[in-house]
Amino acid sequence: MTSHIMPTYGRLAITFDRGDGAWLWDQENKRYLDALSGIAVCNLGHAHPKVHQAICQQSKKLIHTSNLYNIAAQEKLADQLINKSGMDNVFFSNSGAEANEAALKIARLYGHQQGIDTPCVLVMEKSFHGRTLATLSATGNTKVQDGFAPLVQGFCHIPYDDIPAITEAINNNGNIVAIFVEPVQGEGGVNIPADNYLNQIREICDQHNLLMMLDEIQTGVGRTGKFLAYQHNDIIPDVCTLAKALGNGVPIGACLARGKAATLLTAGKHGSTFGGNPLACSTALAVLKTLDDDNIIEQIKDKAQQICSGLTAKLKHNKAVLNIRNKGLMIGIELDKPCAELVVKAQENGLLINVTAENTIRLLPPLIIDDEQINLLVAILSEVIQEFSK
Ligand SMILES: *Cc1c(COP(=O)(O)O)cnc(C)c1O
Repeated sequence: MTSHIMPTYGRLAITFDRGDGAWLWDQENKRYLDALSGIAVCNLGHAHPKVHQAICQQSKKLIHTSNLYNIAAQEKLADQLINKSGMDNVFFSNSGAEANEAALKIARLYGHQQGIDTPCVLVMEKSFHGRTLATLSATGNTKVQDGFAPLVQGFCHIPYDDIPAITEAINNNGNIVAIFVEPVQGEGGVNIPADNYLNQIREICDQHNLLMMLDEIQTGVGRTGKFLAYQHNDIIPDVCTLAKALGNGVPIGACLARGKAATLLTAGKHGSTFGGNPLACSTALAVLKTLDDDNIIEQIKDKAQQICSGLTAKLKHNKAVLNIRNKGLMIGIELDKPCAELVVKAQENGLLINVTAENTIRLLPPLIIDDEQINLLVAILSEVIQEFSK
């Protein structure tokens, strides 16, 4: 049968039917351990009863009214996000790329307010910010950009985790208005910067009056062991974007802003038909409540430690394994050669993983993964890697 879906994804030959926590079953009823969470989305696992309940209850009452009216769940979700983040206000979108579009529009308004006609945002090589024209232009990967010229202007790409490159760019360009960066690069290969990278960026932004804008779409909502990755650094950015795990699979994105950045998107400057609808916001509220009630974020460090030390123990004599690195449950295992085929090998053995930046295995297991599942993950993955690197 020919598919009538545009071939934008190279899909694996597998169709899932149902899930439960970290488990997924395909249509043949074969069980898989999910160590990817739908790419950092289903952080509470699949078919979580509290998420299910929120969707059912809200859909019985109201799904959508539009932003022409007040939306109680949206107000409540904004209050909670502000409380957890230290930011001032929120714009709700339906996806990560849209949240980033809002952030980039804030940067443009900020620049123009200062009399800069061609404002420029500093962005990083190997970054990923989405697939819309502005966000792919911000992305530091030519594969994402090829064929889409003319790109959106106003971005200056510099190496990641390189503070001198930031100062140099600022000194050479009078029109830089913001620095836009991921606390850990996800798609770019699980690249973890120096511990004080974000602190130094905060200082530079303060010195030069720039907006510090963090793309926490992958790192946010607990993934790295804090609700937001910047909370490891005890700083607060001026803009922060969220999406992926916020609705545990129900589409919702958020652009959080603070101080001067929070005052710029006024009536008529931005909008969204679906953004912040009652269904998405009620679901996100259930996600936040579950993270708190079940103390999920507090347990991440230990779970990550268990996975990484387990893998290290089994793979320490394997010369093909260059590096095992993590920030919470964002885990990268770098091999000495391209290893995309490991995805299929793991899948055959009942484990779902991802490979990014060609030679880095990426694990983004659900935050609720238990001890037994961690042991299974370590056993299957190390076996598959040993076999591959023989
Ligand atoms: C996934 C991702 C995006 C894009 O989110 P979409 O919901 O796919 O538009 C942007 N930035 C980062 C860091 C991401 O991981």
